[in-house]
Amino acid sequence: MELGAQEMQRHRAEQYGRLAAVLEKDHEVPGAAAIFDQALSCGLAAIVAHQWPGEELKKNGAVKSARFLIEVAKARAEKRPGQDDVQILRGTDGALDVKVECKTLLEAIDHTAAIRHARGVGELRRPYVDALLELDAHAALLQVSDEQRESDWVKEEIRQRHDRLRASDYLELIGDEEAERRAKAAPHFVVIAPGAVNDGVALDACPVCGWEALAMSGIDPFGAGVGSGACVVCSYVRSADEAEELARRIMMTRHMDN
Ligand SMILES: [Zn+2]
Repeated sequence: MELGAQEMQRHRAEQYGRLAAVLEKDHEVPGAAAIFDQALSCGLAAIVAHQWPGEELKKNGAVKSARFLIEVAKARAEKRPGQDDVQILRGTDGALDVKVECKTLLEAIDHTAAIRHARGVGELRRPYVDALLELDAHAALLQVSDEQRESDWVKEEIRQRHDRLRASDYLELIGDEEAERRAKAAPHFVVIAPGAVNDGVALDACPVCGWEALAMSGIDPFGAGVGSGACVVCSYVRSADEAEELARRIMMTRHMDN
């Protein structure tokens, strides 16, 4: 089943809003580069699809990458007087004008690629986040409100990302040998609470250490098989909220692929 164009736009806007709100609140959150790339892709796709329908897509129907979406804005939007690298999308019906800082955003894409290739080490610079947030003034977005910034989801996302970093530091501290010993012992000391998980599956793959060592104390409500619990190898904790969110993303991806 294909998502309707409107539903797709809403999904893009929501994704942009949540991720941009995370960076607005904490632009040094672990994994900031990946969050930035995803937020920018969703935001630009929503804007381009709204302004110039069809131009967000490649010939094969897939959505263009952020870099090519910026090229569309560069070619189609008005230049800001005196600033060749900033495009302006004029707001209609009382909407605000939207500044698309093409040069800064292209620079940001290069910067995040460099961070991601260096295993996530490095900082996302604030001006890049500010340029990302400028896009929010567009009628297709309007997502980053005070409410959004203070939402449980944003707080939880930031907490989770710091927890992942803490767990991966801990993993480095205990070393490979100890991690393997713990992983092999995991099935022996995980006790399934009656009724807590389906099918007697007690261990899920841990996103931090990669071992099947996340002792499940619950499972997502959609039946996608995402467990919540704590990893007996690296101590990473996945909350029920995170499991639900992850499952929602898995379901959404399946939905869009079909
Ligand atoms: Zn782990």
